Amino acid sequence: MSAQAIDRFAATLPAETRASVYQSTKTTHEKRTRLLFDQFPDPDRLRTLAGEIKQHAIENLDTYLPQAEARLRANGAQVHWAGTAEAACAHVLRIMRERGATKMVKAKTMVSEEIELADYLGRHGMEALETDLGEFIIQIDHDHPSHIVRPIIHKNRREIATSFEREGLGAYNDDPATITRRARHHLRHKYLAADVGLTGANFLSAESGRIALVTNEGNSRFSVAATRCHIVLVGIEKIVPRDRDLGILLNLLGRSATAQDLTVYTEFISGPRDPAQPDGPEEMHVIFVDNGRTEVLAGECREILRCIRCGACLNVCPIYRQASGHAYRSVYPGPVGAVLSPLLLKENFPQKADLPKASSLCGACHEVCPVNIPIPDLLLRLRARAKEENVPSPGTPPMAPWALLASQPTAWRAALVAGRALNVLPTRLIPVPALQAWTASRELPAWRGGEFRRWLKARRRPAPPAAR
Ligand code: SF4
Repeated sequence: MSAQAIDRFAATLPAETRASVYQSTKTTHEKRTRLLFDQFPDPDRLRTLAGEIKQHAIENLDTYLPQAEARLRANGAQVHWAGTAEAACAHVLRIMRERGATKMVKAKTMVSEEIELADYLGRHGMEALETDLGEFIIQIDHDHPSHIVRPIIHKNRREIATSFEREGLGAYNDDPATITRRARHHLRHKYLAADVGLTGANFLSAESGRIALVTNEGNSRFSVAATRCHIVLVGIEKIVPRDRDLGILLNLLGRSATAQDLTVYTEFISGPRDPAQPDGPEEMHVIFVDNGRTEVLAGECREILRCIRCGACLNVCPIYRQASGHAYRSVYPGPVGAVLSPLLLKENFPQKADLPKASSLCGACHEVCPVNIPIPDLLLRLRARAKEENVPSPGTPPMAPWALLASQPTAWRAALVAGRALNVLPTRLIPVPALQAWTASRELPAWRGGEFRRWLKARRRPAPPAAR
């Protein structure tokens, strides 16, 4: 038996990367908790309310999507619908070609990662430049993001300085302020030369057609302000019914994602530039992307569509902290990815059906989720589905021997005694290959087998005398 894919990856993670992922996620999680509990008398009520708003929205998409489309059109935007990743990419390409555009600046959007837009545009002769600092570094390194909010959580500043030197952005200098200044200088020119700006939408209000965009670097603002055509890629689940819902969700998003009261730049955009306004894009195109979401909505894990991509569940997850993001083999890592990745694309289920098992089911992800998604329940539902569909699960320890032991008291007692040996034997001498593989990437906790039995025996009281 081999270890599961995520274990194999975790075993190869350099100690330095593991330490920095652990420290960074832990610090953000602790700050988030302090902030929420210091500032709100009952943050859990807020999470419940936010979850109800999102659940209501996704269950009534047939009402809110047409309403949003009508508002957007009334505001002067053009609306497009994309059932698949290919259709979404094709819409973007067509819009660019119709304008004779060849250069795009893009802000960070998870849905564009999901549909692999930048690669698609590159294959068709278009330049799509990432303007979020982390995504920019990922792009020049031909790497993949490893966190929803902090795509380069797995990189250190020395690696980044080396990449900048290689790309001609200045001699090696790993001072973070210098790195940031160089990136800013490089990107400023690109904004001014670009034909099209592409952003996502953190939320889209059906009531007003207003999109809410949050960044900490102001790059979405630049992408929109400096170009004449604004394309918005938005998953259909990003709809909220009313503008007032944004107040609750934005309050939770900043605190949950980066432990900030509010993200530094929060933009509300309702349509293209009004003739009376001095600048801004002349055209605005909103592309609603389904790409498997309707199927998720019809399935047993529809609650995952409430997700607002804050990354809080990654920060608190003991598996993510050990394995980091690339171990999940998807643009969506961590607990949210363990549910979303096997579901979002139908063909992903058999290949990624191991991800729901990459969880200790400790429940921490549910406790921090700002929209109260019961992630452990969803993981269990996916595990059950994998079993029903007989999806092979390489690396999963066989349970039959355990069941046999657990049902034979004498064999169980013997196994408890033998189990102590595992604490003292080096991994390579453990006589069972399956256990060797299992312990190669784990530390066994000190064996305490048998103590409960002793405790219970010592506690057993004599039966009361029979009544006369
Ligand atoms: S599942 Fe919840 S905690 Fe995780 S990214 Fe989505 S909203 Fe945030």
